[in-house]
Amino acid sequence: MSEPTIFHKIIAGEISSDKVFETEEVLGFKDIHPKAPTHVLFIAKKEEDFVDSIINLTEETAHVPGKLVRAAQEFAAQKGIEGYKLTFHCGKGGGQEVFYLHLHLMSQETYAE
Ligand code: AMP
Repeated sequence: MSEPTIFHKIIAGEISSDKVFETEEVLGFKDIHPKAPTHVLFIAKKEEDFVDSIINLTEETAHVPGKLVRAAQEFAAQKGIEGYKLTFHCGKGGGQEVFYLHLHLMSQETYAE
C-alpha cells in the first residue's frame, strides 16, 4: 500500500478527530474546515473496504460508497437533520485532496450535540 493518509491515522487513533458517528464498519467525524453549519465526513474502517477514490472503484469495492451513504443517512436521521447534500470529490480535478474514499455530508441545519 502507498503512504497512509491522514484518514488512516484517524482510524488507527494516531490523530484525534471529532467523532459523531461510529459503527463496526464506518466512522463519521466533523470536517476540520467545515463548509456548512453541519459538515461530517464518513469513511469505511475495514482494511478490505479501503478505496482511495471513486476513480479507482472496482467490482470488489463497489459496495463501499453504499455503506457510506447509508451511514450518512442514519446519522442524519439520528440527529433529526431533514435536508443535506452528499458529495464525493473524485480525483484531483474533482477537488479531492485526501486519497481515502470519504463522503461529505453538508447541511444548513445544525443539531444538538
Ligand atoms: P476532499 O477535498 O474531498 O479530499 O476533502 C478532504 C476533507 O478533509 C477537507 O474538507 C478537509 O477539511 C478535511 N480534513 C483534512 N484533514 C482533516 C482532519 N484531520 N480532520 C477532519 N477533517 C479533515
